[in-house]
Amino acid sequence: MTQRQLPYSFCQADNILAIMQHMPNRTIALKQIKDEVVNLTQSPLYTERIKNKMLPVIGEGNHQAKIMFVGEAPGRNEAIYGRPFCGAAGKLLDELLASVGIPRQDVYITNIVKDRPTNNRDPLPAEIEIYGPFLDRQINIIQPAVIVTLGRYSMIYIMTKFGLQHKLTNISNMHGQLFTTTTSYGPLAILVQYHPAAALYNGSLRTTLAKDFQALRQYI
Ligand code: URA
Repeated sequence: MTQRQLPYSFCQADNILAIMQHMPNRTIALKQIKDEVVNLTQSPLYTERIKNKMLPVIGEGNHQAKIMFVGEAPGRNEAIYGRPFCGAAGKLLDELLASVGIPRQDVYITNIVKDRPTNNRDPLPAEIEIYGPFLDRQINIIQPAVIVTLGRYSMIYIMTKFGLQHKLTNISNMHGQLFTTTTSYGPLAILVQYHPAAALYNGSLRTTLAKDFQALRQYI
């Protein structure tokens, strides 16, 4: 019997197995995270997602990336397309990346919270608690050399996660600075940045962000 004659479900399982056998381990582990977030029924944002016919936003980019960007939570556009930073803030992020010669597909971009908080409000502590472990796993899988925190929530989460909470002050003091630490997989630098959304209608913040981005050149 050729494979064409096998029942559909059998062929499909066979194909999935064949595809998985050729997937790098990181891709398989990231896919597992995606599957878990898609079915995260215990999150109050899951109910909202289904009700509003939105998508979860897991993350995208190079699974071997040296540079990982961590934002707060998806906005409306992101939840429509299931992609991080694909709205107005994403356009600015793309411009900032281009200004330092880094192709977007070379980095990995994600958020702390993987579902859109209602009406784009700030993420709640309980939401950060539910989704944070998925971000922790993404970091362990990708093992970036540098994490760029976008905005205050990301700065607080990442600095605290890596035991640097004693260095936390206001983002206005910390932006543009590199903080170094050692992780279970090796050295890590954390670059604190303003959130691109904050710079959309603020010319001086935009100039500051562009200047702070220059620190990434050393990681290309
Ligand atoms: N703001 C974020 O923090 N993340 C996105 O993906 C989009 C906007």
